[in-house]
Amino acid sequence: MDIIHIGGENTVTGSCHLLKIAGLNIMIDCGMAQGYDSVPDIDKWPVSPKEIDYLFITHAHIDHIGRIPELIQKGFVREIICTHPTKILLGPMLEDGMKFSNISEKERVKCLKKIDEFSWGFEYGKYFDLKKGIRFKLGCAGHILGSSFVRFEDTGSGESVIFSGDLGATNTPILPDPDPPEPCDLLVLESTYGNRVHEGRTSRIQRLGKMLTKALEDGGKVFIPAFALGRTQELLYEMDRLFSDPDLKKTFPDLTPDKKIPVFVDTPLGLRITAVYSNLSVFWDNEAKNLYRSGDHPIDFDHLYAVSSHRAHEKLVETSGPAIILAGAGMCTGGRIINHLAAGIENPENDVFFVGYQAKGTLGREILKYGRQPGGHIWIGNQKLQINAEIYQLSGYSAHADADELTGWVASMPEKPGKIKLVHGEPAAKQALASRLQGMGYNART
Ligand SMILES: [Zn+2]
Repeated sequence: MDIIHIGGENTVTGSCHLLKIAGLNIMIDCGMAQGYDSVPDIDKWPVSPKEIDYLFITHAHIDHIGRIPELIQKGFVREIICTHPTKILLGPMLEDGMKFSNISEKERVKCLKKIDEFSWGFEYGKYFDLKKGIRFKLGCAGHILGSSFVRFEDTGSGESVIFSGDLGATNTPILPDPDPPEPCDLLVLESTYGNRVHEGRTSRIQRLGKMLTKALEDGGKVFIPAFALGRTQELLYEMDRLFSDPDLKKTFPDLTPDKKIPVFVDTPLGLRITAVYSNLSVFWDNEAKNLYRSGDHPIDFDHLYAVSSHRAHEKLVETSGPAIILAGAGMCTGGRIINHLAAGIENPENDVFFVGYQAKGTLGREILKYGRQPGGHIWIGNQKLQINAEIYQLSGYSAHADADELTGWVASMPEKPGKIKLVHGEPAAKQALASRLQGMGYNART
């Protein structure tokens, strides 16, 4: 058994690993690198796309699937293996992703058709056979809908390996916690937050309630740049709680006035993904299922509005508050959030809530940096804009397990794994997690 990390070994984007086992080439994820990260050209990979026997996809975030179209264009013709929800999410996510590539419309349609033909959804928690005596099992990773970790076993030699994919935080809204992993010889473990501990979910919803109350006091708009897959649905879930949970309503009475504050989902991709989340209630956690049974759809409420057409978006940009607007892109690198910011960032009644990581070089990062300086401004196109809106950053909205949860997940294995190889993390995070695991008696390396 041999593993080559093509991408996402020392970075949090561009995940792509090659497992060579029993003469098979199995690829785990085929992601796009973002920001300053990079993944080598496919022509320089240690395996040609034609020689890959299987492609496993741990989940449908673009940094794990973004290069599938290119892989297919360069000759990959085999099965793509993932969970049922991931198969459903691949289409909308890649269709959106390809808009920014130089692939022609005709090629895009052809490519999406092939991806649909090649991909197969499998159940969690069951073994399935591949060729050459290799079998695999998908476990629930609790990161986004359909996310999985995967265990491979060579039934001949008895060798086994687990790829964690991205692991979710415990108590993530809507989703069940990660399944405990089975024993294995080698664990390839993500380490995004290997050196951090998140704020708990209770304090997070309290902070969201407090900030929304303050932001809406003056009747302005609250802009939330949000990622279409995962974060948007989590936020809708928490707002549904703030608007319907009896205790939270008592704590934040101003959020549920007679004239209910409208919440707009102003992202076509986010709307498509939210519909997928809504329809797949079998994959929700018990809390969400119980709410649904009691008559409260956990990601829907009566003053939630979908903004699909561009015309409706333009109208919303011109309309005055109060309103809460979720729009992409999550790091303000493009998308409808740009029009909202251009029209509204100079207005002191408005507020911008950042709920996710803002990479260096993005407009989101600039706003965070200059929004707190007197006279701070940004440029959108050739428009110089004064940042008069209030800028907030909400922590605790990570879709990744933190250091305590990562080590807790490893410790939940019935036996210590032979070795742990850390990936998907910046050097400081990997080093911190490796030291901590070593201190617990594990054979861990960065
Ligand atoms: Zn992810």
